[in-house]
Amino acid sequence: MDERVGTAFVVAWMREVAARVHDQRDHLTQLDAAIGDADHGINMDRGFGVAMERVQALDGATPGQVLETVGTSLVLSVGGAAGPLYGSAIRSMGRSLGDVPDLDGEDLLVALRSALEEIQRLGTAHPGDKTMVDAFVPAIDGFERGLRASEGLPAAAARASAAAEEGARATIPMKARKGRASYLGPRSVGHEDPGAVSTAIVFRALQTAAEATP
Ligand code: ADP
Ligand code: MG
Repeated sequence: MDERVGTAFVVAWMREVAARVHDQRDHLTQLDAAIGDADHGINMDRGFGVAMERVQALDGATPGQVLETVGTSLVLSVGGAAGPLYGSAIRSMGRSLGDVPDLDGEDLLVALRSALEEIQRLGTAHPGDKTMVDAFVPAIDGFERGLRASEGLPAAAARASAAAEEGARATIPMKARKGRASYLGPRSVGHEDPGAVSTAIVFRALQTAAEATP
């Protein structure tokens, strides 16, 4: 893949996440009401709202700076587990990109891997624990398969997005072993994990941004 994308792409991606999280706010909160404390949609919507205001105020930022700004905003403005996890993960993506003006699919893959590493370093969740990790891992695998098949960024992002949605659905029969839902033990079975669903939103937004990038 030799297509390169820049700051506009990363801003479009984050803006799309913010818009989709806003649209899905009630749905995410309802999912969290079933196995948590009914705040996931509220948390994510507030966090991405603050983040996009701060991104709007940036001038001449690199892709890495945009992601660091979004990540820091989430860490600072969102309580609970998911905000700091997403915030640290997105900040880590920004650091991974450094101060280059553009990136390709391989750079994005490395950045996504560093995001997942950060989530797992902080949250110590493994696949099967019924968390955002259960959507993130298959999404990265799908993205990589797309890159290896030389499909280009939009198709690789589409694979990532489909895999994340499937990963989120696969959390339904799982028993939660991390986060608030783990307090419910076997009663967490039969519900889709809210954080896995928001991770699927992040990758769906990536697909949209990639498809819209000339
Ligand atoms: P809180 O659980 O503190 O109310 P949210 O409701 O915003 O925070 O987010 C809940 C989501 O966070 C869960 O659905 C799960 O996907 C994710 N999560 C919670 N704990 C962890 C963890 N240790 N590792 C990874 N993800 C986690
Ligand atoms: Mg919650």
